[in-house]
Amino acid sequence: MDGGLQFRGLCPKCGANLNAETCGCDTEVEDDRFAVLKNLKIE
Ligand SMILES: [Zn+2]
Repeated sequence: MDGGLQFRGLCPKCGANLNAETCGCDTEVEDDRFAVLKNLKIE
């Protein structure tokens, strides 16, 4: 185990390996709620 290193996995947006690099996506904010709201949007 590497102390301090966290397994971040892959960026859900661009697929970058977040263990090896940092991408510019807003991965800190999970927008699942907004996705749900969009799905609920009535037209
Ligand atoms: Zn990304």
